[in-house]
Amino acid sequence: MYRPIKSTPHSWDGYMKPFQITDHVYYVGCYQVCTHLIDTGDGLVIIDAGYSKCLYMIMDSIHRLGFDPMDIKYIISTHAHGDHVEANAALRGLTGAKTVIGKLDAADLVAQKYAEADIAVEDGDTLTLGDKTFRFIHTPGHTIGCISIFFDDTYKGQTVHVGTFGGAGANTLTKKCATYYEGCTDDYLKSLDKLQAQPLDVFIANHTWNNDTEGKGKLLLETGENKFIGPDNDWLKFLDHCRQRCLRVIEENKTL
Ligand SMILES: [Zn+2]
Repeated sequence: MYRPIKSTPHSWDGYMKPFQITDHVYYVGCYQVCTHLIDTGDGLVIIDAGYSKCLYMIMDSIHRLGFDPMDIKYIISTHAHGDHVEANAALRGLTGAKTVIGKLDAADLVAQKYAEADIAVEDGDTLTLGDKTFRFIHTPGHTIGCISIFFDDTYKGQTVHVGTFGGAGANTLTKKCATYYEGCTDDYLKSLDKLQAQPLDVFIANHTWNNDTEGKGKLLLETGENKFIGPDNDWLKFLDHCRQRCLRVIEENKTL
């Protein structure tokens, strides 16, 4: 049975050595909150800039991989929670990149003064840069405007479908959570249905515990074995895990 990795002594904002996942997708995030870099051939795209305090690590990781952060053209945010968008304003200011977020989270983003959303996307919208087209699926629940992101890349001569669930945490589904909204659990379950219909070759996480990013990254760096791809990618197992968590929260909510 699929189990997420247990929490470890590492802090959320700790350093993670950057690594390459597929031909043009790289991990440049911190220890718990994922930041991915995509090289489109005509500029770079960031998925989730992360914490402000981690921005120096992300910049360093981008440099270490041989890229120039000034080439970042878009910062795509999966949802408007601080751990994913805090660094947007600084990164946007430094690079001139445009910020992209789900339409219903855009208002929150402005309210929280992280950065204005330059582009607000809705279900089914796409964004093309270079040879990459990013497809956005509205997957509310964790937040009302959460988006999941899908695109194609290549690996060992094959086209691979890459994707992420943009907001998997069941923590906001409980009535005890300050950001709980009416209908969020129904939204979340419908979002899981949408995501299960998306075939994925490569599962990139939103938080590292989603797919054991740390363990898989370490294995990749040390041995070249790539468990982000193929049957070991944990995509469907993780979605099932999310569904079970949501069903437990629904039961708990009945007692609150
Ligand atoms: Zn969140």
